[in-house]
Amino acid sequence: MDESDLYRKWMRLVENLEREGIIKSEKVKRAFLRVPRYKFVSDRYKEYAHVDEPLPIPAGQTISAPHMVAIMLELAELEGGMNVLEVGAGSGWNAALIYELVKREVYTIERVSDLVEFARKNLERAGYKDKVHVIWGDGSKGYPPNAPYDRIIVTAGAPKVPEPLIEQLKVGGKLLIPVGSYHLWQELLEVIKLDEDNNTKIKNHGGVAFVPLIGEHGWRE
Ligand code: SAM
Repeated sequence: MDESDLYRKWMRLVENLEREGIIKSEKVKRAFLRVPRYKFVSDRYKEYAHVDEPLPIPAGQTISAPHMVAIMLELAELEGGMNVLEVGAGSGWNAALIYELVKREVYTIERVSDLVEFARKNLERAGYKDKVHVIWGDGSKGYPPNAPYDRIIVTAGAPKVPEPLIEQLKVGGKLLIPVGSYHLWQELLEVIKLDEDNNTKIKNHGGVAFVPLIGEHGWRE
């Protein structure tokens, strides 16, 4: 399948997500059209990139399904200039989408070194080399050097909300994180930081299925 076929299929998926009310805003739609998922998967999966399901990436991990990514980006209410941390770089796709929404350098942290390389290569090829920084480390501890953040988006499932992530949010900032069991069942939580004492307001957006967040404030290996 050549690139124009891949892009045509991608456009159709984006239109479907919009029709289903999953993509709600013009800005998220524009970001999706600018950053097609096929640029962030291995060659053998490119022809499936428009299918609304997770796909395999190296190290037994996944690139999330487009509808899930759209739901989280709509909930994040990203605006130009926001400082965003993503936890779980994976392929680098979501971080590139975030960049398109904030137009400011994005930090994304990944614990698996092979995936750090995979994400960096994908991002470089797609034109995001200096726009998205892929950090190798345990994102359950956040990434203090660039804190405080307006938004933290976690794309792996945690047993509980990691305290350091709340600490690294600005007051009024928002954390999106799947919290629940180790094996692919969590609830998507929207955590808003209310004050400097780390009090929060939490909204539950229902059931989701992510790979586990493994680390000091996540699941043990
Ligand atoms: N956002 C990714 C994308 O756009 O392709 C998909 C992320 S995948 C569903 C979850 C990722 O979280 C995996 O790559 C996994 O290795 C990573 N991960 C798990 N625990 C982590 C941790 N403590 N710190 C950073 N990354 C972690």
